[in-house]
Amino acid sequence: MEKLQYDIKKRTHKVELPKELGFGKLFTDHFFEMDYSPEKGWYNPIIKHVENLSIHPGSMFIHYGQAIFEGLKAFKTEDGRVTIFRPQAHIKRLNNSAKRICIPKVDEEFLLHALTELVSIESDWIPTDPGESLYIRPVIYGADPFLGVKPSSNYKLFILLSPVGAYYTEGFKPVKILVQDDYVRAVRKGLGECKTPANYAASLLAAKEAKEKGFTQVLWLDGIEQKYLEEVGTMNIFVEFKDEIVTPELSGSILPGVTRRSVIQILKDKGLNISERLISIEEVVDAYNNGSLVSLFGTGTAAVISPIGWLSYKGTEMTFNNGQPSKLAQELFTELNSIHTLKIEDKYDWIVEVNNEEIEV
Ligand SMILES: *Cc1c(COP(=O)(O)O)cnc(C)c1O
Repeated sequence: MEKLQYDIKKRTHKVELPKELGFGKLFTDHFFEMDYSPEKGWYNPIIKHVENLSIHPGSMFIHYGQAIFEGLKAFKTEDGRVTIFRPQAHIKRLNNSAKRICIPKVDEEFLLHALTELVSIESDWIPTDPGESLYIRPVIYGADPFLGVKPSSNYKLFILLSPVGAYYTEGFKPVKILVQDDYVRAVRKGLGECKTPANYAASLLAAKEAKEKGFTQVLWLDGIEQKYLEEVGTMNIFVEFKDEIVTPELSGSILPGVTRRSVIQILKDKGLNISERLISIEEVVDAYNNGSLVSLFGTGTAAVISPIGWLSYKGTEMTFNNGQPSKLAQELFTELNSIHTLKIEDKYDWIVEVNNEEIEV
């Protein structure tokens, strides 16, 4: 791998972040990019000022969707240290997604180096209020100008940074979910376990229709029978019964979430009965009716933990925990946020600390 290059513009004034950051509206000054060609492999790795990409209208990813991405976060601790949550796991998943849609692998160690350098250079952009963070978005796309259907020969990889606000502007509030059985998001052996734009395109209409009916998001059922729980919006789902916590097993149509995996680990360490198995919507409804269901929640990098307060399935309206977050959802949310900002010990070694000194320019 070539050496990482820097073309950094000195800041003329201090970074001033707006009060309401929202999600993904604001970007930092610099980004990372590199290219791939069959002759050179990945080449030209550089951190430089954010600029528009020059894209040929024939670029293959625009036509056929050959693209993948990741989403992870950096945080600032109370004493000003900079942390990134499980970057190695996200980079490994990027390579797994790459394999499924014929994108060449990246060197994981090098990409971690580039990512931590970028975050270090842009560390003034990391917001510090509770729940705020710097969202990190790596993307790879097929760049050949060609209209035939085949894997591209050339690729672009970039990492874009966006300071983001707390996901819940009015606090940690449960969401209202519609169980979706008119559309499916993904099927086993399809692209469901791959973090690729196609899965998001497949989800838009269902989410739009659910919003129009007053729901926050949809709960996706399996693509074949519309019987088993898969994901909630773009999050993994957990179901809390009185004597067991269940999350759907990774069947091939579910995105293997890093937050999901972290939550499973924490629950195991608490000595709780956590299983990864098939769970049908009927099982959820039955448990609701016989009083053995406590609550449901989603997990993902953006919201971390998203409690579900209400669920609607074929006209059955269910309310969990009086529309309040369950004790467990609240505990998990606090614990993960405390690990992000090192308020508690990082006993799992999930945090990568980044040098918080700006590079000499
Ligand atoms: C990214 C993503 C998730 C959550 O994964 P994390 O690694 O926890 O952020 C869940 N479902 C889908 C469809 C996703 O794209």
